[in-house]
Amino acid sequence: MTYMPGRHFLQIPGPTNVPDRVLRAMDMPTIDHRGPEFKKLAESCLTRIRDVFGTTNPVIIYPASGTGAWEAALVNTLSPGDHVLMYETGHFATLWKKLAEKLGLVPEFIAGSWRSGVDPAAIEARLAEDKGHQIKAVCVVHNETSTGCTTRVDEVRAAINAAGHPALLMVDTISSLGSIKYEHDAWGVDVTVGGSQKGLMLPPGLSFNAVSDKAIEASKTSKLPRSFWSWDEMIEANAQNVFPFTPATNLLYGLDEALTMMNEEGLDNVYARHQRHAAATRAAVTHWGGNGSVEILCEDPRHYSGSLTAVQLPEGYNADDYRKVVLENFNMSLGNGLSKLAGRVFRIGHLGDFNDLMLMGTLSGVEMGFELAGIPYRKGGTQAAMEVLTSKDQA
Ligand SMILES: *Cc1c(COP(=O)(O)O)cnc(C)c1O
Repeated sequence: MTYMPGRHFLQIPGPTNVPDRVLRAMDMPTIDHRGPEFKKLAESCLTRIRDVFGTTNPVIIYPASGTGAWEAALVNTLSPGDHVLMYETGHFATLWKKLAEKLGLVPEFIAGSWRSGVDPAAIEARLAEDKGHQIKAVCVVHNETSTGCTTRVDEVRAAINAAGHPALLMVDTISSLGSIKYEHDAWGVDVTVGGSQKGLMLPPGLSFNAVSDKAIEASKTSKLPRSFWSWDEMIEANAQNVFPFTPATNLLYGLDEALTMMNEEGLDNVYARHQRHAAATRAAVTHWGGNGSVEILCEDPRHYSGSLTAVQLPEGYNADDYRKVVLENFNMSLGNGLSKLAGRVFRIGHLGDFNDLMLMGTLSGVEMGFELAGIPYRKGGTQAAMEVLTSKDQA
């Protein structure tokens, strides 16, 4: 491959582009993780990460990708044979379900269309039937990265309460944390699973469990085997601003800087920025598809994602061929369609360290790609997006 001038546009919905400030913050000598300097770093990260989850309880930080934190949530709270209620929002919900099976849990998987978030009524109905409380946890994906559908977690909590069921609520926020509003405490979530490489603007390699008191209680009697993922040793060590094993020190430097940047912008402004870019992207896709060709995969406007938009191509066109045209001509990576959406869908990531002109560059690349790849579309989606970005009530 020859040199491609200018910056690569990494517009997949995670990993996202890492801002220079974070890269520079990580460019440090690795220090003694039991010395005084490290303790300051740990304290700053462990305290301030709580705000992003919306919790005053501990947040556990693992040197692992998001998949590790998925496993940690389950092995710390559940016992072999426990039933867990999960909902098929898409590829990531399906992977979490498979992981639960491999651990010896019994997932009950509510079928979904891969075109909306969780239907809280379906959760409520199943829990209401479960008079013996065989179901120990309800596990949902907040932002289903394969489809661009965001579940209303507050409604899932309300459904569990309406059924009067004691199950724990566990939520995967790997592609929403730091980009879509989230409230661990206020929404009554017991375990929130997060990752570093999407909304938090960091490289891959850190993941998180935010835990409720009820989840910590459950961990005292749960019987799934665990060692590396154990919360108790982490929480005990973290209280002294150390870790029970070597932490990913340089990623923590990056996290500390990312948290500072999010504080400077203000979390509510971060969320509003993501919603605005999502609205502009949808305006573009809706315009492009005006002649009945491309369409937004998410069918329920109440579940539109603030961090990515999945776009379905018309029958007979291959999304991976299209993405190749975009990569080769414009040096831009778009997300692929996952599992049953392979070849049918591409995904535009608009999360992380991202601004209006980066969005317009992205959408221009998408539109020029349609032209070069021979995908039917209506010209002017980029114009429609600019109108959203410059309209008085949006801007
Ligand atoms: C990316 C992602 C994962 C997987 O995380 P890894 O860091 O790849 O292990 C899980 N769930 C969701 C919703 C994701 O977006």
